[in-house]
Amino acid sequence: MAGMIMKGAEVIAAMKEKILQDVTELKTQGIEPVINIIRVGARPDDLAYERGARKRMESVGIRMDVTELPEDISQKDFADAFRSVNDNPDVHGIMLFRPLPPTLDEEEIAGMINPIKDVDCMSPVNIAKVFGGDSDGHAPCTAEAVMEMLDFYGIELSGKRVTVVGRSMVVGKPLAMMLLKKNATVTMCHTRTKDLPGACRQAEVIAAAAGRAGMITADMVSEGAVVADVGINVNEAGKLCGDVDFSGVSKKAAAISPVPGGVGGVTTSVLAAHVVRAAQILAK
Ligand code: NDP
Repeated sequence: MAGMIMKGAEVIAAMKEKILQDVTELKTQGIEPVINIIRVGARPDDLAYERGARKRMESVGIRMDVTELPEDISQKDFADAFRSVNDNPDVHGIMLFRPLPPTLDEEEIAGMINPIKDVDCMSPVNIAKVFGGDSDGHAPCTAEAVMEMLDFYGIELSGKRVTVVGRSMVVGKPLAMMLLKKNATVTMCHTRTKDLPGACRQAEVIAAAAGRAGMITADMVSEGAVVADVGINVNEAGKLCGDVDFSGVSKKAAAISPVPGGVGGVTTSVLAAHVVRAAQILAK
């Protein structure tokens, strides 16, 4: 029997209600929440994310500015431009597109960003908070988007066996920490994992964040498991797809998120929620 489809649009709609209320409240205090996106160069995936973010911010009344910098900018000029955004009291949230060109040093910037304005978790302060189980920082938006989706669909995590495929600092690792905080029993998998199918089969919940089209197949998933697909890939036919073989796995899973239409879009809603929270903190 086909399981429930966990749709990003439903999560986005529910989050929008709360964000709109908070934005209205801020505006009655004379504060317009502002995010500044810093983009070096013009990579197509950065531009695509930027378009999605703009649409989301506009839908909830957050102003989005973009600081565009040339790809051949020097480290000094880059740091100066970054500092001026960071120090601007009208800016509440900052997101820097990464990876940066190899000539630029990301670490200097990560150490410089005001942790309150660091809405996508590049500051060591926010990273330490996520890993320390302290939820008052900003977690990486994509990892939090998975948690929002599981929460919205009432997926119980306490005591559950959860397998996370992928261990990057932007998705897999922070997601594992957030799942642990919800008392899940977490197994993390990566390219050196010996028995990935076994680790997935024993899971009650699977979060796939490896960036490999269709790698999680039906034989790797237990009947009744919940499957959140974070992957964004282009398959051989040139179509957007996730890390999960949706047609096979959806026949066995109790709940599954599609790609596109799943976790991806929720990421910008989380970003908007972080900007609002930053504006609230900075207003105090
Ligand atoms: P990375 O490439 O940084 O990390 C991928 C991780 O997956 C690594 O830990 C890697 O292991 C692991 N991995 C890769 N192949 C396999 C395999 N065959 N078996 C087991 N583990 C494997 O990717 P990201 O974390 O940045 O992104 C992951 C996916 O999520 C991508 O598809 C990306 O497009 C998507 N994404 C979506 C976002 C959104 O929805 N807005 C935002 C960010 C990412 P190892 O460490 O051993 O190399």
